[in-house]
Amino acid sequence: MFSQIKFFIQKLQSSKYIKKGRCKMCGACCRNILLFSDKNLPVMTEEQFEKIKEWDKHFRSFYISGKSETGALLFTCYALGDNNKCKLYLFRGLGCRQYPHKNTKFLINGGKMLEGCGFYFEPDKKFEEYLK
Ligand code: SF4
Ligand code: SF4
Repeated sequence: MFSQIKFFIQKLQSSKYIKKGRCKMCGACCRNILLFSDKNLPVMTEEQFEKIKEWDKHFRSFYISGKSETGALLFTCYALGDNNKCKLYLFRGLGCRQYPHKNTKFLINGGKMLEGCGFYFEPDKKFEEYLK
């Protein structure tokens, strides 16, 4: 019981990140999209992509446009215009509206924003402040 309380207190006190900056409308986040299979793994092959499109029609909004360093496929959204603006801006989904999402695990593990993105995350406290 004590260890559960301790864990809960540590969780509350753990580092929090704050989103800063602004969108530069470069469109990079609409053309470097990772999609995930039902096993929560990134889609690596065309066959997997075909499968998830059958599973959920929302995946039909994307086309394969590249590969990441890890071999995962990268997708571009059909709604991205030549001017890097969203053609469905008013009707875009919640995921697009909230991008970039705060993902503490990703940030703690050294995850970085897309190159050129105008947003960045900073811890709410400096490391030294956590030692006090
Ligand atoms: S990558 Fe960042 S700056 Fe570029 S469009 Fe997406 S949110 Fe905006
Ligand atoms: S719907 Fe618009 S904002 Fe969302 S990924 Fe597509 S182009 Fe980008």
